Amino acid sequence: MWGYFCMLAFLLILLVELVFYVTVAINLENEARGKVEAVCFDMGRLLKFNPVKFEDGLIEARQDGVNVYLIAGDGRVFFPRDYKGTPDVYKEVMNRIGDEKDGYSLTYRTGNKVSCALKVDDGLQPFYILAKYSVTIVTRTVGTLQLYLLIIGVSIFLLAFLISYIFSKNITEGVQTLSDTAVKFANGSYDVEFVNVDYKELAALSDTLNYVRDEVKKSEDFQREILANVTHDLKTPLTMIKAYASMIKEISGDDRDKREKHLQVIIDEADRLTGLVNDVLSVSKLQANIAEFNLKVFNLTELVYGIVNKFGYLQESQGYNFMIDIDPDLYTRADEEKINQVLYNLLGNAANYTGADKTVYISLKSSMDGKRVKFSVRDTGKGIEKDKIAEIWNRYYRVKENHNRPVKGTGLGLSIVKAILENHNFDFGVESEVGKGSTFWVDFPLVPSEI
Ligand code: ADP
Repeated sequence: MWGYFCMLAFLLILLVELVFYVTVAINLENEARGKVEAVCFDMGRLLKFNPVKFEDGLIEARQDGVNVYLIAGDGRVFFPRDYKGTPDVYKEVMNRIGDEKDGYSLTYRTGNKVSCALKVDDGLQPFYILAKYSVTIVTRTVGTLQLYLLIIGVSIFLLAFLISYIFSKNITEGVQTLSDTAVKFANGSYDVEFVNVDYKELAALSDTLNYVRDEVKKSEDFQREILANVTHDLKTPLTMIKAYASMIKEISGDDRDKREKHLQVIIDEADRLTGLVNDVLSVSKLQANIAEFNLKVFNLTELVYGIVNKFGYLQESQGYNFMIDIDPDLYTRADEEKINQVLYNLLGNAANYTGADKTVYISLKSSMDGKRVKFSVRDTGKGIEKDKIAEIWNRYYRVKENHNRPVKGTGLGLSIVKAILENHNFDFGVESEVGKGSTFWVDFPLVPSEI
C-alpha cells in the first residue's frame, strides 16, 4: 500500500514537473521569437521611412540584446559599421530569403540563436535586415528553473513518502486489527468487539461488523431456541404416543371403546408430529430458496371458502363464529397450494388468539380500481404489542405464554407466511391494537379468470 502511495506521488510530481518545464521552455522561446520579430520589423520600417534614424535604432536594439545587420543585395554589410566577419550573414539571408519578394520575413532558430530575416526591396537593389538574439540566457534560466523544480520535487516526494508511510501504517494496522477480530469471531467468540475510530470508513466497517456480530449472535440464540422448541414439541407427542400405546397394550386392549379413544389420541399426536416436521421442512426449503413455485390463475374466493369450511369443526364443537364478507369469483395468479398454506396459517392464528367472543372476521374484497384483492382476517384477541410486531414474522418466534389454542402451532407459521408472500412479491402486514385484536392482511393481484 505504501509502495503504491509512493509510486503515485512520484508520478504526480513527474507529471507536474514535465508540464511546468515544457510550458516554461515554450514560453521563453516564444518570447525570444517575438522579440527578434519586433526589432526586425521596426528596423525595416526605419529603413523605409526614416533611414537617418536607422543607426539609433540599431544601438537601442543592441542594448536589448538583439544584434541587427543591414546587408545589401550585393553582399556588403552596412551595419553594424564595425562588422568584420566573413560574409556569413549575407550567405545566411541569401539562403533563407534571397529570392523572396519585398517585405518577406522568416523567423528561425539555429543552435542557441533565434533570428528574424526581412527583405526590403525598393526596386533599385534589395536590402536584408537580420536580427539575432542569443537564447543562451533563456536556456540558462530554464536550466535554473529545472534545478529548482528538481529540488522542490525531491522534497515533496520525501514528504509524500513520509506521510504515506504514516497513513498506510495506520490503515494497515486498523485493517489488521479488524481482520484478527474477525478470525476470532469466525472461531466462535461472539463477544468480540470490532474497534476502529481512526478513519471514518474503517469506523463504518467496524460498525457493520459489530452489527453482523449481533445478528449472528441473535441467529445463534434463535437456533438454540428452535432446537429447544422442536425437541420439546417432538417430545410431548412422542411421550403421549408411547404412553397410550402402552395403555392399549396393558389395559385397554380388550375394551373396544377405550381402545378406540386411545388409538385416536395416538393418531392425533402422530398428525401433530407430521405437521411439525412438515413446517420445519417448509421453512428450511423456503429459506434455502429451493421451494418450487407453481404459478397459475385460480379462484381465490373458492380457496378462502374452502379454508373457512375446514375450520367448521371449531364452529360446531367449540362455539366459534366465522363472520365472512367475501366478494364472488375473484381470481389471482399465484401458487395455489402455498397460498392455501398462508391463509390457513393466518386463520388458524386468528382462531387461536381471538378473544372470549370466539369470533373471527374474514374478508376478501376487490379494490376500487379493480387491480387488487385484499384478504384480511381480524380477531378480537389481546393484540400484539408494537415492539413485538416486527418479531412475530421471525422464525421460531413465540410469545412466551401458555396459550390455550384450539389449533396446534409450531411457532413457524408466520415465518412460512412471510417467506411465501415475499417470494410472490405480494404486500402483506398486520395492524394490531393491544386489548382490541389484530388484523392480518394480504394484497393479491386481481386477474381475469382463464376460461
Ligand atoms: P405460533 O402461532 O405457532 O406460535 P406463528 O408463527 O404463527 O407461530 O406466530 C408467531 C407468534 O405471533 C405467536 O406465537 C403469537 O405470539 C403471535 N401471533 C400470531 N398471530 C397472532 C394473532 N392473531 N394475535 C395475537 N398474536 C399473534
